[in-house]
Amino acid sequence: MRIVDEVMNLLAGPGREAYLGEQVSQAEHALQAAWLAERDGAPDSLVISALLHDVGHLVLGALEDVAHRGIDAHHEDAGAAWLDKHFGPEVTGPARLHVAAKRYLCAVDPDYLDGLSDASKLSLTLQGGAMSPAEVTQFKLDPHHAPAVRLRRWDDEAKVPGLDVPGLEHYRSRIEAAAKAKGA
Ligand code: FE
Repeated sequence: MRIVDEVMNLLAGPGREAYLGEQVSQAEHALQAAWLAERDGAPDSLVISALLHDVGHLVLGALEDVAHRGIDAHHEDAGAAWLDKHFGPEVTGPARLHVAAKRYLCAVDPDYLDGLSDASKLSLTLQGGAMSPAEVTQFKLDPHHAPAVRLRRWDDEAKVPGLDVPGLEHYRSRIEAAAKAKGA
């Protein structure tokens, strides 16, 4: 299946489900995150990473309400494994680190935790809470940590019910170009 069709099917199918206790669907969340990235002047690879950062939730499907059952399904790892089949490290890296970036921001920015949604605060506990100083040092060694922190900020904002943003077609050529760069 062509990559854009595969993304389309994921967003149109499992993507219609609610985003983990938020007021938007997974598809709305993905499209809002991508649009925030684009508006912020992010490179195409990071826009696509923002669009697909939660693809692990869609791939994991039935485990969708796991946070509410006290389980961390490590959706970032499932998502990175899927992304790695189709895209290069500039797309996969920031998405893989978007949960780590939340734990990092909780450690270095005292105001950050207050701004998180209730669902995101709940999942934070399951994800290990704020990073320790040693984890912060380790995180900053990852070449994708800076774009991951940018992605995380868009991720946190991309939860606005009814926000009018471009649909998936807007990103089609960039998804295809990023997949082609990987040779997929
Ligand atoms: Fe997200």
